[in-house]
Amino acid sequence: MTRMYIGFDDTDSPRMGCTTYIAAILVEKLGKLGVSFADYPTLVRLNPNVPWKTRGNGALCLRIRCERKIVEEIKETVINAVEENADFSYEGTDPGVVFLLNSVPKQVKAFAQRAIQGVVKMKDALRLVEKSHAEAVGFKKGRGIIGGLAAIGENLEGDHTYELIAYRTPENRGTPRRIEKSSVVEMNEKTSPLTFNNVDPETKRILITPRGPDPILYGIRGENPSAVRRAHQIVHSQEPIERWTIFRTNHGTDAHLQRVNSITQVKTFNPVVVQGVVAENPKVITGGHVILTIRDNAGKVDCAAYKPTGKLQAVARKLVEGDLVEACGGVRPPSSEYPTTINLEKLRILKVAPKATLYNPRCPRCFKRMKSMGLKKGFRCEKCGFRTSKLEKVAFEYERNLEPKIYITSPRSQRHLTKPMCRYGREKSQMPKKMINHWHFP
Ligand SMILES: [Zn+2]
Repeated sequence: MTRMYIGFDDTDSPRMGCTTYIAAILVEKLGKLGVSFADYPTLVRLNPNVPWKTRGNGALCLRIRCERKIVEEIKETVINAVEENADFSYEGTDPGVVFLLNSVPKQVKAFAQRAIQGVVKMKDALRLVEKSHAEAVGFKKGRGIIGGLAAIGENLEGDHTYELIAYRTPENRGTPRRIEKSSVVEMNEKTSPLTFNNVDPETKRILITPRGPDPILYGIRGENPSAVRRAHQIVHSQEPIERWTIFRTNHGTDAHLQRVNSITQVKTFNPVVVQGVVAENPKVITGGHVILTIRDNAGKVDCAAYKPTGKLQAVARKLVEGDLVEACGGVRPPSSEYPTTINLEKLRILKVAPKATLYNPRCPRCFKRMKSMGLKKGFRCEKCGFRTSKLEKVAFEYERNLEPKIYITSPRSQRHLTKPMCRYGREKSQMPKKMINHWHFP
């Protein structure tokens, strides 16, 4: 038996398709060819901050075992599935497929890490494909080869989650999704926290259904395959489900965030975690967005908590000069209006600075608050005329009402990769031991 890795990406567009759907179809088609699956199909979200990302920036990989003699037939099946389902006429959709046999070289794993946390180039992907004796098939500009190779390299050895995606039948695609809202609320109550981000707690909005014309009816995220399957059984759909598939993913793992030691290392397009002291009191700009400047010994950088981040925006407003924080988020390049800015996904408050206001002292004779006679010139009482240069201003400390802990953007504005609060303490450190049976339904 031969081990084979099939990675692909960038087949969809904002107007149609979904690369996960091609994976779901291939699970059925390859199953019929007699291959066995070594893992769930994996859905790897790459750096969401690169400007040329695809919708959601998710790449797919199928890990299979097959007889050597059907390798060519498998490749043909995959390429046909991409040709039949990709949105070729859309500018910016540049599908790519990568095939790799036997084992995944270390450099491909390192490449995947860079594609998730940073910025990678097409020419590096192509060089690595050649070096690894892989085979790449690109359509149009073939940018999907980058994601295809990265999906092969990221085997989700460490923390990972699952997503069960249910697909719509062709005649319903593009129409409003019909699922019973109350069944989603019930599912959330019965299966959370083993499933997550089903419903937004602040707005009560259902989060499992996307809004576009893609073939996805809903996606349920969770900690293990049986939790997402159970949740799927509780959700009541009023339209037929064509098929569903469980994916193993890096959703909700913070895999994109990379810690840097200094603000000078905050680079455009990279998702970072960086510590700094709040340099001045935050500004609230038009639209209710909060701009926060943090500094360290080497430099300073702006951070933005946008209005839709909900709780995060609210906590960012409460910060004052001197607070010590850890900012987490993607780095937006400077524009004509704004400098380089970290778009906050999370904010960890490490130390709350005292917030004090200084007042003039009271007159020791008549208790009236005194007037300053100028810097270091002492105070004078307007009522009784007492003068002194011995008294100093007195500080009054305010209650801060700010708990030093981590604050995360509200679920409705979380990125696929953002680790939600309920996943803290549930991180996995190893691969799943076995696959459960019946994990897809063609
Ligand atoms: Zn006085």
